[in-house]
Amino acid sequence: MIDPQTDLKQLEARHTSGVYGKRDLMIVRGAGARVWDEAGKAYIDCAAGIGVANIGHCHPTLVQALSEQANTLLTCPEMFYNNQRATLLARLSEKLPDGLERIFLCNSGTEAVEAAIKFARASTGKPGVVAAMRGFHGRTLGSLSATHNKEYRQPFVPLVPGFSHVPYDNIERLEAALTDETAAVILEIVQGESGVRPGSPEYFQAVRQMCDERGILLIIDEVQTGFGRTGCWFACEHARIIPDLLALGKSIAGGVPMGAVALGPKVMELKPGMHGSTFGGNPLACAAALAVLDIYKQEDLVTKARESGAYLLEQLAEIDSPLVREVRGLGLMAGMELRVRVHPLIDALTERGVIALLAGSTVLRLLPPLAISRSDLDTVVTAIGDSLATLEQEANA
Ligand SMILES: *Cc1c(COP(=O)(O)O)cnc(C)c1O
Repeated sequence: MIDPQTDLKQLEARHTSGVYGKRDLMIVRGAGARVWDEAGKAYIDCAAGIGVANIGHCHPTLVQALSEQANTLLTCPEMFYNNQRATLLARLSEKLPDGLERIFLCNSGTEAVEAAIKFARASTGKPGVVAAMRGFHGRTLGSLSATHNKEYRQPFVPLVPGFSHVPYDNIERLEAALTDETAAVILEIVQGESGVRPGSPEYFQAVRQMCDERGILLIIDEVQTGFGRTGCWFACEHARIIPDLLALGKSIAGGVPMGAVALGPKVMELKPGMHGSTFGGNPLACAAALAVLDIYKQEDLVTKARESGAYLLEQLAEIDSPLVREVRGLGLMAGMELRVRVHPLIDALTERGVIALLAGSTVLRLLPPLAISRSDLDTVVTAIGDSLATLEQEANA
């Protein structure tokens, strides 16, 4: 029995696996761009569940769709047809870049990447995958083999053979790594986890051309950048390229776990049994993703992300602090690289009622809900400026 007097944070700390570095904060409720802790303190949420709650928390349209679907049908594996899934697949393919008309549904970003790697290997009959240094593609063994961070990889070697890593945004080094055994190149348009680093459109266009010439498939991982985050539906639109496989996740179903990989015409016709997932394409997640598409349309969220993102990056760039090395980002995916460790800034922001993410040890990352108001963004920027000023004073004291 759980004693209601026992501190729930302590209980969680005692029984959790230990793989997460936890903040001293228990979040119990959310609405729009706000979340609340158990003491009732409100925070502006610039984490949004790590870029998941693009539509904000507890959006009434999503809440209603979930409630109706929970009352109708929760589970229905893909060996059957389902009305919600059929509608979602059709509506999603309308939003996807031209030619990406088939979609494999799963339950997380890493599963989307796993599927993309499997489909690329099966389509080409080759094993090799070239990924980028600082790239992040997930933590299951296949995706982890594409992820670069040594800390994440090292305890689990040997990983899947055939993977190599080249410097990001460097076409010569990529070309040098391609061989007759290369099935696919996998890249993010903006490297998220490793520090909010956008690649250049010229790079992606050159990669696209090189893959076409050599019969190599291009996997673009938009688990973080997809669904309007960067001010376009998908970030590959900024680079004016269309991938052969597009991996999606995070915000796709507004907070209900879901992943997807969209397949272009160069991906083989997949056969029954080649891949699968018990929960993949379940009606609850599909109903959620459909509600999300409705909300994007009603609220013009992609335009909002573009406009608010430009405003946020401009305001961040105006913060005058010797602790700031660089501000960068794309749309409403903002990064501020410091000359010092970012942890104390995150803590100072939490004190001031702003929840933010880090990306690497020195980069502050902001991924707020796409409809966040100008006044909330102003509050966030002021909190960052004030916190940096305090940290600088402390460093000089
Ligand atoms: C978060 C993320 C993943 C992994 O998604 P999970 O749902 O955590 O498995 C993969 N790729 C990118 C670019 C991500 O940001």
